[in-house]
Amino acid sequence: AGTPLTGRVAVVTGASSGIGAATAERLAALGAKVAVAARRKDNLDGLVARITAAGGTALALPLDVTDRDAVAAAAGQVADQLGRADLVVNNAGVQLISPIEDLKVDDWQRQIDLNVTGVMNVLAAFVPQLVAAAAAGGPADLITTSSIAATRILERFSVYSGTKAYLSHFSRLARVELGRKMVRVSAIEPGMVDTELPDHVTDPDASKLMAGLLRDIECLSPADVAETIAFIAAVPRHVNLSEITILPTAQA
Ligand code: NDP
Repeated sequence: AGTPLTGRVAVVTGASSGIGAATAERLAALGAKVAVAARRKDNLDGLVARITAAGGTALALPLDVTDRDAVAAAAGQVADQLGRADLVVNNAGVQLISPIEDLKVDDWQRQIDLNVTGVMNVLAAFVPQLVAAAAAGGPADLITTSSIAATRILERFSVYSGTKAYLSHFSRLARVELGRKMVRVSAIEPGMVDTELPDHVTDPDASKLMAGLLRDIECLSPADVAETIAFIAAVPRHVNLSEITILPTAQA
């Protein structure tokens, strides 16, 4: 069928650009109602307008995922306005690479606040809805955007890689508890995707390195990753694609 996600209620964080925006559009095109969260309200409003114009249903959630109360309130809003969430794409993240000895401790903290604490806030807010959806007999998915940085040894990536290793391993452990309740838990580990991610790097050398890498090979597009996330959600309920690595063909 062309709309395998009809009846699903999705939440996508980091949906104001890149992978999150493409994922929200793809899930909506496949029939899901989609709540989209990030800080930039204008981008979210534009995304909601595009999804609505294409015949879908979407709700903007302008919020900072590091604000636990705001995320909890948003979970209530989703349940009230769209219905119980059964597909959570925990995707908001930031990559601020730099050499350790530069002691960019503010950048370290930002990555931990967003990539770890932010992801845990979203998890805490939506796990009850996911478990209830699974108990009601439907599919339920908790999908987290990790990275190949979770396992690779990449210079200057230390704190970022640490946060992504946390997410990949956390997902394995969460699967044990939630899988038993028929909630699927998945981590997706992309290689290089052409998004705004490198724009936030504050270290000029690291910035140059990222730009060079992006120039040298044909990267993934956000739509490539979105298609993979949609696939994870669309397979039969007893099938859990627990960890997926997706790389540009030419990336080593
Ligand atoms: P983008 O920078 O385009 O997207 C990041 C998203 O996170 C934006 O929507 C941003 O929106 C949102 N965000 C940032 N801070 C917050 C916050 N405090 N609260 C809520 N939302 C926030 O990059 P990508 O699409 O590439 O990144 C998405 C995920 O993919 C990240 O987790 C990243 O680590 C991961 N990834 C990316 C790869 C790549 O090569 N691009 C490779 C592997 C993994 P706003 O600023 O409006 O809040």
